Amino acid sequence: MADVIVVGAGASGLNCARLLSREGLHVVVYEARARVGGRIRTFQPADGGPPLELGAQVVHGDRNPVHELLGPGRTRAVPRRVTARIVEDGTAREMGALSSGRRAPWQLEAVLQRSPGVTGLSVASWLRACGSTGTESTAVLEWFRQNWAADPEELSAAGIARAHRGDTVGEGEFAVEGGFARLPERLAEGLDGRLRLGEPVRELVYEPGRVTVRTDAGTASARAAVLTVPPAVLIPGLPAWKAAAATDLPAGDGCCVVITLDRPAPDTVIVFDVDGSTGFTRCAAGRPEVLVVAKADAAASLRAAGTGTALSALLATALPWTAGAAVLEVVVADWGQDPYARGAFTAPRAGREDAARRWAEPVDDTLFFAGEATVAGEQLPWVQGALASGERAAEQVLKALR
Ligand SMILES: Cc1cc2nc3c(=O)[nH]c(=O)nc-3n(C[C@H](O)[C@H](O)[C@H](O)COP(=O)(O)OP(=O)(O)OC[C@H]3O[C@@H](n4cnc5c(N)ncnc54)[C@H](O)[C@@H]3O)c2cc1C
Repeated sequence: MADVIVVGAGASGLNCARLLSREGLHVVVYEARARVGGRIRTFQPADGGPPLELGAQVVHGDRNPVHELLGPGRTRAVPRRVTARIVEDGTAREMGALSSGRRAPWQLEAVLQRSPGVTGLSVASWLRACGSTGTESTAVLEWFRQNWAADPEELSAAGIARAHRGDTVGEGEFAVEGGFARLPERLAEGLDGRLRLGEPVRELVYEPGRVTVRTDAGTASARAAVLTVPPAVLIPGLPAWKAAAATDLPAGDGCCVVITLDRPAPDTVIVFDVDGSTGFTRCAAGRPEVLVVAKADAAASLRAAGTGTALSALLATALPWTAGAAVLEVVVADWGQDPYARGAFTAPRAGREDAARRWAEPVDDTLFFAGEATVAGEQLPWVQGALASGERAAEQVLKALR
């Protein structure tokens, strides 16, 4: 019998398994997909060009643990000087339009981060209280939808402010050399023979000091299990209060698409769609790929566009140079429809701020919980939050088993 079964080989599960193995425990990791990384997924162009990210996009902050985990020289700062545009009322404009005669979304987000006394308010109601109206409010609401993958009417203003304050990764944005997928690959080093890829856990049975999981290959038992699956991917066998916590932690919708065209982009551009159809669209000078990262309602709109003419029309609005280009390939990562993700990531919901704490709470010192959702409203639900949750769960398991 193993000491610990870890369910899920994303950033949190791999970090947890790695730390427990280092302490000499016999760990087995069950992963539903045929690959490690979960919501970290890199697209590598066939000609060896620069990779694009279909899941986690950038490493946030110069003190993010990802830098150390990858080793020196494996991350590089994302250039700040990139042409940035918006699409507003169906027309492409310079990004500067967002801060001319109105407060820019990032300015209002910074105000929220520093604001005490927002308890009980949704982000939308907080914005109304700040006197945000008209085109300013439309842009800010869409900004929050895209950054938090949730409806601002439901987003907890206090949870978002607290999550920003709880994040200690510093400044700047960084790309991983060779793609973000290098991180899970790196974390999985040394777990050879203990990784069961393509083996979803279908259900679990537990009693204090013993847990048994069932997969299509049979059953396996251990003294403890760490569940890192997103709450919406509920594994049968958990107590009812866990299922209730999971219901209060819905992940927001997300869909990412890489479209390879028959011609290269003339310029490196990032476009934010204030109208709410495409989220963020990027292209790089000299490269034929366009990446669309859409969340909340924009994810639904991107999904509905499919891979044909409706998608080309969306692209042409954001990036006029794509009009008339032939689409050679479309690669979709539809996180909202993915049975092993069921969404992009977890934002704190107004009135349900305690859900993450309930989801994270161990059961009988036998079932432990990690994953970005366990930090919702206390830290940012990004890779650093997932890694930290895996470390916290490893400490809890060590304390329980020794
Ligand atoms: C579109 C998008 C953009 C993002 N942008 C950023 C960003 O720029 N920067 C950043 O830091 N973060 C970003 N994130 C968030 C980041 O990807 C996540 O916070 C992080 O990857 C979550 O890791 P995790 O281990 O908690 O979950 P996951 O990566 O989802 O890992 C859980 C694992 O459990 C597996 N699983 C599910 N069900 C079962 C089962 N029944 N049995 C066995 N295994 C199962 C899944 O396949 C998965 O591998 C983004 C996410 C998305 C979707």
